[in-house]
Amino acid sequence: MSWRASAGVTAFALELLPRTTRGQAMDVLSSQANLAGYRAMVDAMAAYARVLPMMMTAAGTVTPAKVFVVGAGVAGLQAIATARRMGAVVSATDVRPAAKEEIESLGGKFEHLKGQDIVVTTAQIPGRKAPRIVTAEMVRSMKAGAVILDMAAESGGNVEGSQPGETVDVNGVAIIGARNLPARLAPATSILYAKNLHNFVQLIVTKEGTLKIDTGDDLVAGTLLTHEGKIVHPNFAS
Ligand code: NAD
Repeated sequence: MSWRASAGVTAFALELLPRTTRGQAMDVLSSQANLAGYRAMVDAMAAYARVLPMMMTAAGTVTPAKVFVVGAGVAGLQAIATARRMGAVVSATDVRPAAKEEIESLGGKFEHLKGQDIVVTTAQIPGRKAPRIVTAEMVRSMKAGAVILDMAAESGGNVEGSQPGETVDVNGVAIIGARNLPARLAPATSILYAKNLHNFVQLIVTKEGTLKIDTGDDLVAGTLLTHEGKIVHPNFAS
């Protein structure tokens, strides 16, 4: 990277933006993860051959699908909300104690994977390989016809055996390895991404239209990667 810095390019990395309340309007990770979480659940529901809500019909009652979401961050919370809108019985888990409150407020409850019809995994650890949460043995314990969608398939995989961009069948359980989910709803994700960038540019361009990089601003300092010929971000400066 150093040759690029020495070329005098000023570069910002929005994925490094501090995740503060003020930063929300320009938080590209959140805007993309939110829609990706929605799309992940839509894809998982589409691959499920039964129905999501309970249906009481003259021909009999159809029981609602049980949906389990692993990881209740931005994507996971949207996946939970999407499944609930469809009438599924939703539960979720997360390692962050703070997430427990958010899960309960969305109607989820902590429980086990076995017996679930749809499982969507969203667990990530920033800058590291995704944690392996669903083992091959757990997959084998699930019912034929169940669907697992691994949102972390590209970063190591939360589910043993998942392959990015592929659907793997294990004894009738479909494991969908997600790949670039934001691109699957590009018109919507592009609009939000553009708004994030527009909001960010307002931080570094004055009303008169001149560039003004204020390194005293935590959002500017938190994203500024290279400036004045050097790598200046504390995470990468040598
Ligand atoms: P992420 O994509 O890095 O991870 C997704 C979720 O996976 C996280 O909730 C994480 O706790 C969970 N996870 C990691 N390992 C796990 C495991 N072994 N089992 C179960 N779950 C596991 O996270 P994200 O969605 O980018 O955001 C995470 C946090 O950042 C959340 O608290 C979110 O509310 C917060 N956030 C705050 C702001 C803000 O403006 N204040 C903006 C965006 C996000």
